[in-house]
Amino acid sequence: MDAVLAETLAEAARFLAQIEARPAGVCAPRLEAAQLPEEGLGALGSLEEFKARFAPWLSGSAGPRYYGLVTGGVTPAALAGDWLVSVYDQNTVGSDESIAPQIELETIGLLRQLFGLPDEFSGAFVTGATMANFVGLALGRQWAGHQLGVDCAAQGLWGLEPLRVFSACPHSSVYKALAMLGMGREALTLTPCLPGREAADVGRLEEHLKRQEGRPCVVVANAGTVNTVDFDDLRAAAALRARYPFWLHVDAAFGGFAACSPRYAPLVEGLEAADSITIDAHKFLNVPYDAAMQFTRRTDLQAEVFQNAAAYLDAQVRADQYIHLTPENSRRLRALPSWFTLTAYGKQGYAEMVERLCALAQWLGAQIEGAREFHLLAPVRLNGVCFALADGAGCVPMEGVRRYLRGLQADGGVYLTPTVYAGVPAVRASLTNWRITQKDVEQAWEAMLRGAQR
Ligand SMILES: *Cc1c(COP(=O)(O)O)cnc(C)c1O
Repeated sequence: MDAVLAETLAEAARFLAQIEARPAGVCAPRLEAAQLPEEGLGALGSLEEFKARFAPWLSGSAGPRYYGLVTGGVTPAALAGDWLVSVYDQNTVGSDESIAPQIELETIGLLRQLFGLPDEFSGAFVTGATMANFVGLALGRQWAGHQLGVDCAAQGLWGLEPLRVFSACPHSSVYKALAMLGMGREALTLTPCLPGREAADVGRLEEHLKRQEGRPCVVVANAGTVNTVDFDDLRAAAALRARYPFWLHVDAAFGGFAACSPRYAPLVEGLEAADSITIDAHKFLNVPYDAAMQFTRRTDLQAEVFQNAAAYLDAQVRADQYIHLTPENSRRLRALPSWFTLTAYGKQGYAEMVERLCALAQWLGAQIEGAREFHLLAPVRLNGVCFALADGAGCVPMEGVRRYLRGLQADGGVYLTPTVYAGVPAVRASLTNWRITQKDVEQAWEAMLRGAQR
C-alpha cells in the first residue's frame, strides 16, 4: 500500500506542478475497445497504464484558463479532504457507529453561516446541483400534494391534476428533475423575463399565479442563470406567497456564492425566504466533483419522500439520518472536502476568492466590450461573461462560433463553451476556479484574440 500511495502522490505532484502550463482544452482520441486483463497488472502497473494511455489527454479543467460551463477547481485543503474520504471510506447513512454523519451535519452548519441562512434550514450533500434540484422539487411536489389532500410519496401522482411549475430561465437540469419525479418536463411553464434580461418579470409571474386560481404550484427562482449570470428578485418572488400558494425553490447553484461577499450579497437578497435551495460545491466552493448541497426548512417533507424504512435501520429521523433524507442510501463522506476547505480558508477566504474572480470577469468583460472582434451581450454581474463574435455590425452564426471554439481548443490557451442568448449564437466564459490570477486571464484573452484573428 505504501508504495502505491507514494507513486500516486508523485503523479499528483507532477500533474499539479504543470497545471498552469497544461492546455486548457485538448482534442482527445477515441479509445479502442479494451480487454479486461486475464491477470491484473497490479496497482502500480495500472497507474503506469493510466499514465501512458490517458494522462496526456486530460484537459486543464482543474487549471486557471478553463472557463467552460461553470467549472470550479480544487483547493489544496479540499484535495486533502477528498483523498481522505476514500482512505476512511465511511458510509454516511447516519448512525451512531461513526462520527461521519455528524461531520456532514457540522459542514452544513458552516455552509449555512457562509451563505447567511437561518438555523432552521437543514441540508444534505448530494452529487450535484441536478440532484439538489431534484430534492427541492420533490419537496415542492410533496408539499403541493398535501395541499390537495394527497401524499405523493405514498400514493404517487395518479390522483392529481398535473402540478404546474413556473420559472423564467431555468437550468436544463430542472427539466431533467421534473422528468425523474414523474411531474414531467411539460409541467414547466416559462414565464417572461424582464426586457433584455434573463431575470424573471415578477409582475408577469404573478399573472400566471393568479390564473392558478388558488391551486398550489411550484416556482423555481434562479440566482445565477448560466448564460448571463442574471438573478431573479428573490425577495419580490417570495413576497407573492402572501397571496398565492406555491413552493419556492431557488436554484443558486453557483450564484449563491454572491452571499459570501458584502459587495455581491444584494444579488441574492431574499434567499433565506426560499422553501428549498440548491447550491453546488464543485463549482464556486472549489471542491472536487461530485458535491452539492440542498437546503430546506421542511425536513419533515424530506423524510416523507426519502425515508428508507427497514427493520435493521434506525426509524427515527434526525437531521443527520441521511438515509432517510437523500436519494442515495449508501453514500461517501461527501462533506469532508467541503469541511476541509471551509475550515482552511474561512469566511474571509471565500469572500476574497469570490471578489477576485468577479473582478477578473469584469476585466475580461471590459476587454471584450472594447474589442471590435466581439460584442459583449450582457453586463458582467458576477463571474460570467457572455459575448458574441462580431461580423461587421452583426454577429457570427453558430457554425462560425463552433469553428472559433474548436480553434481555441486546439490552441489550448483558453477553453470556452457555446450558447445561444436571446437568439444570438454566443460564447460564455465562467471564472470559477480559485487558481485564476490576472496573468491567467490576460493569457486567456490573448488566446481569444488570436483565435478571432485566425
Ligand atoms: C451547474 C448548474 C446546475 C447543474 O449542476 P450539476 O452540478 O452539473 O448537476 C443546475 N443549475 C445551475 C444554475 C447550474 O449552474
